[in-house]
Amino acid sequence: MAFRTEEVTNYKTIVICDDCKKESVLNTTPTPMGFDNKMNGALSLGYTFKDNGKRFMNYCNSCKPKHV
Ligand SMILES: [Zn+2]
Repeated sequence: MAFRTEEVTNYKTIVICDDCKKESVLNTTPTPMGFDNKMNGALSLGYTFKDNGKRFMNYCNSCKPKHV
């Protein structure tokens, strides 16, 4: 019988609300998620994005109304 044991590394990607700092797990993947996948994952969890002129901010569902 042959066996081989490998250690497998995964990357857990978490989106953080820039207001209340609530964290939601987007996904656990074998390679770090790219920007587009992060955006789409966050959108599917109800997060929204806002460009404040300097950078993009993430807001969760409950903080969204404060930042329209
Ligand atoms: Zn929030």
